Amino acid sequence: MNNQLYGNLIFELSKEGRKGYSLPRNNFGAYKIPDEIRRKEDAQLPECDELTVVRHYTNLSNNNFGVDTGFYPLGSCTMKYNPKINEEIASLPAFQHLHPLQPEKTVLGAKALIIMLEKALCTLTGLAHFTFKPYAGAHGELTGLMTIDNYHRSRGDLQRKKVIVPDSAHGTNPASAAVCGLEILEVKSDPQGLVDLVDLERLVNQEGPNIAAMMMTNPNTLGLFEEHIPEIAKLIHACGGLMYYDGANLNPMLGACRPGDMGFDVMHINLHKTFSTPHGGGGPGAGPVGVREGLQEHFPFVSPYQGNFAVMLRAYTYILSLGRDQVKYVGPLATLNANYIKESLKDVYELPIDTTCCHEFVFDGLKDKSTGVTTMDVAKRLLDYGYHAPTIYFPLLFHESLMIEPTENESKETLDGFIAVMRKIAEEAKNDPELVKSAPHNTPIGRVDDVLAAKHPITTYKQMINDNN
Ligand SMILES: *Cc1c(COP(=O)(O)O)cnc(C)c1O
Repeated sequence: MNNQLYGNLIFELSKEGRKGYSLPRNNFGAYKIPDEIRRKEDAQLPECDELTVVRHYTNLSNNNFGVDTGFYPLGSCTMKYNPKINEEIASLPAFQHLHPLQPEKTVLGAKALIIMLEKALCTLTGLAHFTFKPYAGAHGELTGLMTIDNYHRSRGDLQRKKVIVPDSAHGTNPASAAVCGLEILEVKSDPQGLVDLVDLERLVNQEGPNIAAMMMTNPNTLGLFEEHIPEIAKLIHACGGLMYYDGANLNPMLGACRPGDMGFDVMHINLHKTFSTPHGGGGPGAGPVGVREGLQEHFPFVSPYQGNFAVMLRAYTYILSLGRDQVKYVGPLATLNANYIKESLKDVYELPIDTTCCHEFVFDGLKDKSTGVTTMDVAKRLLDYGYHAPTIYFPLLFHESLMIEPTENESKETLDGFIAVMRKIAEEAKNDPELVKSAPHNTPIGRVDDVLAAKHPITTYKQMINDNN
């Protein structure tokens, strides 16, 4: 990293009068910009030569960590397998230059692709129709819940305004329900980490006629397969509610079982997680919503046009390149990899729910609590060894959650390397706890004070150009 040499901000590298590029002479005459919209002073722009600019941004980009640079075991919101062929297809000019306002007869190929993708998703999920308008998983949840709300209203069932959400649910579930104007009823997890049926029955008995839906994730956010979906669906349907499935991470289910067959009525899929598309920092995403026959009439208007087409292209390419037979391996391989890591580390990391997991699992920090080394410290120390940290302090069921998801496509050597480093950190925690507590040591920026950053964020930069010159 040449940050010291090249400066952190391009403004710090500026030298008055330096140029990287000169524009050709203006042969078109001057256009007079109205005085009231002209700036009074020149814009403060950095003045740099070309190589300085190129090196500055190249060095910055080298500080980025992604699936192309290293192992990324982030649970739940995983960056899964992003085959390069998908990027190739999505960047074909014929797709890239499409415009949403083009005459319909010139985009029939694109429309056909959406229909073919819809067919594939229906086959994989057991549902009847999909809308592709939502731009993310959370947007899909909102769309799905609005569909459910519209359905109840169309029947004059106006009092159904409560949604049951398990305490292990992804935070977007209760948030989407609240945005939709619905009230959240939390159902507890049992000691095995699954929905507590006794608590659920109590809620259904108390609130039956007010229940609009129950939202579930399966495998749930602890990476555990909810075994009682048919009973749960029966309970909810009997009281007049609908079953919502959060299919953000559908990969462990692909080709193995289908939400539609389990009794779910409405679901969303995160195409950007389950069916590739590199994402992060807020996008790009696609959260298509699928429904049982008849419910499609109740889809709300949530966005114009057809959603995020380039994400659909990648999803369809991913599905076609795997094919009906290969897609069945995604779930078992993701499950095998997660269990391999879990079993290899459970003697040094606390495993609160010791069963076979699905595509991800949760440790509750280091087993030896006497060292004072926390999950945060372990996550920071992993950065020193060149790994992205797992998801930490989520789910909220444990104090020191460390949630690991290796995904299906990582080799045994990669997993062994990660296991060795996790064991080494456990060893360090015992012998030299300060080393772990003060990590990271090898990254461009050391341990940041995240409380201070959250309480007193500094979002502006004091220009020091003149002092530098
Ligand atoms: C990622 C995720 C979401 C939200 O998806 P976004 O595209 O980030 O809005 C919802 N539920 C689960 C289980 C997730 O993992």
